[in-house]
Amino acid sequence: MRQNKAQVFVISGPSGSGKTTLLSSVLKEKTLQKKFARSVSFTTRPRRSKEQNGKDYFFISEAEFKKSLRAKKILEWTRYLSYYYGTPKEFVDNQLKTGKHILLCLDFKGALRIKKLYGNHCTTIFILPPSLTELTKRIEKRCHLTKREEIEQRLQLAKEEISTASKYDYCLLNDNLKTVVEELKAIITKKINPQS
Ligand code: 5GP
Repeated sequence: MRQNKAQVFVISGPSGSGKTTLLSSVLKEKTLQKKFARSVSFTTRPRRSKEQNGKDYFFISEAEFKKSLRAKKILEWTRYLSYYYGTPKEFVDNQLKTGKHILLCLDFKGALRIKKLYGNHCTTIFILPPSLTELTKRIEKRCHLTKREEIEQRLQLAKEEISTASKYDYCLLNDNLKTVVEELKAIITKKINPQS
């Protein structure tokens, strides 16, 4: 499982914590871009208007998801609200074999599973939103076409997720994108170049 010195970084944080924007900003740096692969998960949740199939997620049916699970094509998976999410095993294995580091955006269950699989080669990072008020605003904006019920569920889950933050290797407060991007880059760079 632990090929070369490739590292696996798991980023978690509640819906609306800004983790996707953060990862995209970190990967804009050319030196990191070449060394990293970002895993694109399978999901059964409906695609949001700005999302692209194959870039944000692979949007598949529940039947396809279950078939992939049975075929052991999914490295780890979770059920979030009423949808399934899973990490493609072949992609991660292939990238690690070629020495690429992997970035994964997962919930707590996924973070624990990946830590167990990759041990010291895995770093887990939790992204905290600036405040619950700000988080509520972001979730409401994101879910503007969906039901009030989903917003309430996401907020409730966010509170539960925040209570797991201390179990991560690092916890970063996302109150300023520029600062948190630098903090995340520093953690990543130190881990992939331990001698520097
Ligand atoms: P969203 O619907 O907001 O895109 O994602 C909901 C949650 O599922 C987020 O916490 C996200 O990080 C997590 N997630 C996305 N893909 C995966 C996956 O493949 N595995 C696990 N365990 N969690 C995932």
